[in-house]
Amino acid sequence: MAAKIIAAVLAFQLGLAPCAANIATYSNSADTAAVQTDIAQSVIGHRYADKAEGIAYFEKNDTYYNNLSQRDLNWRMKRIGANTEELREYAKKQVMDFTDEEKQYIDNSLSRISQRFDEIGFKYPLDKDIVFVKTTMSEEMDAGGYTFENYIFLGESMIDDYLKKGEDYFNAMDEILAHEICHVLSRNDRDFRAKLYKSIGFELGDEPEFSDEVKTKILSNPDVEKYDCYSYFTVDGKKKKGTVVSVFDEDYKEGEYAFKYIVPYVVFYDEPDKIYPISEISDFYDVFGKNTEYIIAAEECLADNFRFAVVYGDKANYPSPEIIKYILKVMSE
Ligand SMILES: [Zn+2]
Repeated sequence: MAAKIIAAVLAFQLGLAPCAANIATYSNSADTAAVQTDIAQSVIGHRYADKAEGIAYFEKNDTYYNNLSQRDLNWRMKRIGANTEELREYAKKQVMDFTDEEKQYIDNSLSRISQRFDEIGFKYPLDKDIVFVKTTMSEEMDAGGYTFENYIFLGESMIDDYLKKGEDYFNAMDEILAHEICHVLSRNDRDFRAKLYKSIGFELGDEPEFSDEVKTKILSNPDVEKYDCYSYFTVDGKKKKGTVVSVFDEDYKEGEYAFKYIVPYVVFYDEPDKIYPISEISDFYDVFGKNTEYIIAAEECLADNFRFAVVYGDKANYPSPEIIKYILKVMSE
C-alpha cells in the first residue's frame, strides 16, 4: 500500500523539486500521433481492467479475504463488527472503469518511468502485463494504491487530483506507480527481491513463528504477503534477529485516517509471541535509514526507496544516500 499524498509531501521534505523534463517534449508537441508513438515505447507491459474484470478479481480473491482480522475488517468497513462478505461486497462496489484521459495519464507516467529504467540501465524483468484496476480506494482505507499478484489498484480521486494539478504532479504520479511496481517486481522475482532487500540490510528467510495473539494484531496489507525477511535489531543492549510487522495500534475510530494507526513493531525470532515498539529498539533507523517515514514493513520501506531511486536517481539530497546508491547498483546489474 502507499498512503495517499505521502508521495508529494515526502518529495518536498527531501528537497526534491518537481521536475518534468522528461515529459516536456511530449507536452510541447501538438502532434498527437508523435505522442502516441513515444508512449508505445514503454517497456512496462500493461493493460487496464474494466469494471467487470475488477469485480471478478475481488470475487475470486479468497486468500486475502479469508485472512483478514476483525480490526482489518472494522477499519475497512468503518464500523465495529464488520464481516468478510460485507467487505467483499463493498469492495466490488468501489470498482470503476478508467476514462481514456486517465489511461493516457498513466501511460505517460509509465513512459517516463521506462525512460528512467533505461537511464539507470535496468532491464525490466516482468514478462507479464501489469493490470491496472481503478477503485475509489474506500475498500482499502483510502490508500493511494495497492497490489495483488501483477495487479495494481489505483484510487480514482488521487489520479484525477494529480491529473488536474498538471506538470507539478507528474513526479507524484510517477512515485506512486514506481512504488507499486516495486511491490509487483518484488513479489514476482525472488532473486531481484533478495538483492533489493540487501539495500536496507535485510535478508530473505522464513517468517517467525508468530503466536496467534500476535497474528491478530498484524494488519493485512496486500503488498506484504509474508514477513519472511530479517535483519538485526538491538533491544536491551542485545542485537538479535528480527522482522518488522505492521500493527493496527487501535481499533476503528470514527472519522480518523486508518494509516495514522498503522505502526511498525519488531518481532524477534526467539520471542515470536512478543511485539516490541520501535521506541525500545535502539538502532531501528540505523537499519532502515531516514529517506522515508513509511516504514511499516521492510517491503514498504524498500518500495519507497525504490520510487525515489527511480524518479530522482542519486541527485537528490537524501538523508541516507547509500540506500539509493545500492538500489541503483542492483538495478543496473
Ligand atoms: Zn506499498
